[in-house]
Amino acid sequence: MSPPSSSNNKNYFVSLEEAKNLSKTIKIPIFEEKLTIQDTFNRVLVNDIYSKINDPPFDNSSMDGYALIYSDTINATESNPIELQIIETLPAGEKSSKILTSGFAIKIMTGAPIPSGADSIIMIEKTKQIGDKVLIYNPSFPNYIRKKGENLSKNQLVLEKGTHISPREIGLLATMGYSEVSVIKQLKISIISTGDELIPPGQELLPGQIYESNSYVLEGLIKEMGHTPIRHPSVTDSIENLRIELDKASEHSDLIITSGGVSMGDFDLVRKIMEEEGDILFWRIKIKPGSPPLFGKWNNTPIFGLPGNPVSSHVVFQILINPWLKFVTNAKGPLPKIIKAKLLENIKPKKDFIVFSRVIVENIGTEMVAYSRTHQGSGNLHSLVASNALTILSSEKTLTEGETIDVLLL
Ligand code: AMP
Ligand code: MG
Repeated sequence: MSPPSSSNNKNYFVSLEEAKNLSKTIKIPIFEEKLTIQDTFNRVLVNDIYSKINDPPFDNSSMDGYALIYSDTINATESNPIELQIIETLPAGEKSSKILTSGFAIKIMTGAPIPSGADSIIMIEKTKQIGDKVLIYNPSFPNYIRKKGENLSKNQLVLEKGTHISPREIGLLATMGYSEVSVIKQLKISIISTGDELIPPGQELLPGQIYESNSYVLEGLIKEMGHTPIRHPSVTDSIENLRIELDKASEHSDLIITSGGVSMGDFDLVRKIMEEEGDILFWRIKIKPGSPPLFGKWNNTPIFGLPGNPVSSHVVFQILINPWLKFVTNAKGPLPKIIKAKLLENIKPKKDFIVFSRVIVENIGTEMVAYSRTHQGSGNLHSLVASNALTILSSEKTLTEGETIDVLLL
């Protein structure tokens, strides 16, 4: 697609859906690598994973107590307990070689295999040990036996390819006996922030300067998705410097993300250089905040140009770059999850736009509600921290208090 002839070209103002679809026309090569499971946090599984074992691998006790024969205890009462002879004490990790018969019990710890002949476990709290005897005060019921394979059966499909690996999945891989798995190789993603006014935190601010924050946010968002951020020093608003940094980035990365310089201002040079020397697939999306993003290629490397306002760059990453990264890597997560919540205030829509207001979503009594607490300026990064969700409003009319809306959990 050819670049827009002028920055006012209305054809390049696309809907979010169109932007997502257009971005999916650019793919990049994806590779895989085998990693020990402890290194797979936040990574993406390449293959379907089938359990190597039954989980649990054998019937075992879910309580510290006594393994016994249920029918021995059916007449036990508080005033007339029955007495069983303890023939062994069985810790987890050991299998009894004895066969339990009527009148006997084996003291058993949580996780130890159920001895042959036993069909019930009574918890220790319900018994009294006297020497090598145990008193039982009530019928035991066939309780507290974790059955072989009750969690997972051998060869069962447990984790699908594309699964985003959290600590829970790592634990499950270990449970199933996997010491290593194949995951998607991390993409190298360059982050270039632009703007004459930006200086790194830690230095004294001179008049007109602000601390650069977007690259830090983007770095974290990229890591959360399991990829490798490469943070470049921020670039001043100069075509030459921008060209140098973009060239460098395109040489060593799979994707470039810039922040700033994509709207209509005189110094919005990312847009300008992309128009003149790059390849733009779309510029400007009907969303609020964050309408000016662009997407295209620089030297054959895909590039997302994010707006500089801190809320905008974060929101656009979540609603556009996150889905694109998941698309190219066939990943199913991480989510941003969408749920329903009841509005506690009126929210004005913007015609044809999707409005992503920062709201707090919380459970009050039986329902989820959404309300805002901070002003919605797209420069107000604190509004993102003080909130935990974004509205997804594409309504034509003002949404009033009491209406249910979709919100995207951050
Ligand atoms: P721009 O998109 O370049 O017009 O920038 C929009 C607003 O975001 C301006 O107020 C910038 O100062 C601010 N801004 C741009 N880049 C950053 C950044 N990396 N960190 C913090 N604020 C930024
Ligand atoms: Mg700027």
